[in-house]
Amino acid sequence: MKEKLNRIVEEATSRIESSDKLDVLNDIRVAYLGKKGELTSVLKGMKDVLPEDRPKVGQLVNDARKAIEDKLEEKKAAFEKKVREDRIKAETIDVTLPGHKPVSGHKHPNTIALDDVERIFIGMGYEVVEGPEIEYDYYNFEALNIPANHPAKDEQDTFYINSDIVLRTQTSSVQVHEMEKGKLPIRMIAPGRVFRSDEVDATHSPSFNQIEGLVIDKNVTFADLKGTLAQFAKDMFGEATKVRFRPHHFPFTEPSAEMDVSCFKCGGSGCRFCKGEGWIEILGCGMVHPRVLEMRDIDSEEYQGFAFGIGLERIALLKYEIDDMRLLYENDVRFLSQF
Ligand SMILES: [Zn+2]
Repeated sequence: MKEKLNRIVEEATSRIESSDKLDVLNDIRVAYLGKKGELTSVLKGMKDVLPEDRPKVGQLVNDARKAIEDKLEEKKAAFEKKVREDRIKAETIDVTLPGHKPVSGHKHPNTIALDDVERIFIGMGYEVVEGPEIEYDYYNFEALNIPANHPAKDEQDTFYINSDIVLRTQTSSVQVHEMEKGKLPIRMIAPGRVFRSDEVDATHSPSFNQIEGLVIDKNVTFADLKGTLAQFAKDMFGEATKVRFRPHHFPFTEPSAEMDVSCFKCGGSGCRFCKGEGWIEILGCGMVHPRVLEMRDIDSEEYQGFAFGIGLERIALLKYEIDDMRLLYENDVRFLSQF
């Protein structure tokens, strides 16, 4: 009996030694220790053993089982160690390899310029509001003191959806919506897209962006307008920037003006950038026309206001020295990646 057990253990050991896969070890376990395994069949033969010999034989069988189990465990551990080592080897990182630089997006020059304008006016206590791009003719024109048959309606080359509805030609329409809310004082800017049926060239596009500004309060004067816009120009283009106002005409403001800033390239002495003028036109502005206030039931004796309209693209073109507006819309990554 003892010899038979020894033979079984030896045979199992050699099979375990020569196994090359974890699966094979399982097969061996089943073949020797399983329900129908060789060692189990020896145990089944115990009934033929004399009762006084049974404890001794039982001990021998247990020893054999233990020997095979130990060998299996040992081999299994060796396998697992090898698998682990192989994996670590495969996962080794060569820290000397050059890295992959991730390509990240960034803001469009228009957005950068708008962020700057918003930051400056929010800093002065203005609220940023929005209005509809598709607008009633009334809000775009009549409520801004541009009656039917007014030449400004033709000048602006409006896209009409039907006789009452237009694509707004100016963000000034948002002024009307703000005044309609009936809450005074008002201190707002309204950035947004406007539409005019212009041909595309270096300085025109059928769709571009404006930033409308409106202040309505008691005792507002042209001096407030000048002070506010002069401060804006300094914050936007540099502390040394000077401003000048030239008389102009807009139907919804009286008096009206256009504001120039001193050329931030040459400081005013004249250069190619400012076409030798020393000044660059950046916005239109004026005191809100009393009729515009009265149409919204605001007492123009008690309340006054000023308004301004900034071309966002104009600011972006100036600030980043871009000489063709089309570049802002073509989304050529070679151009955009410079900002
Ligand atoms: Zn200049």
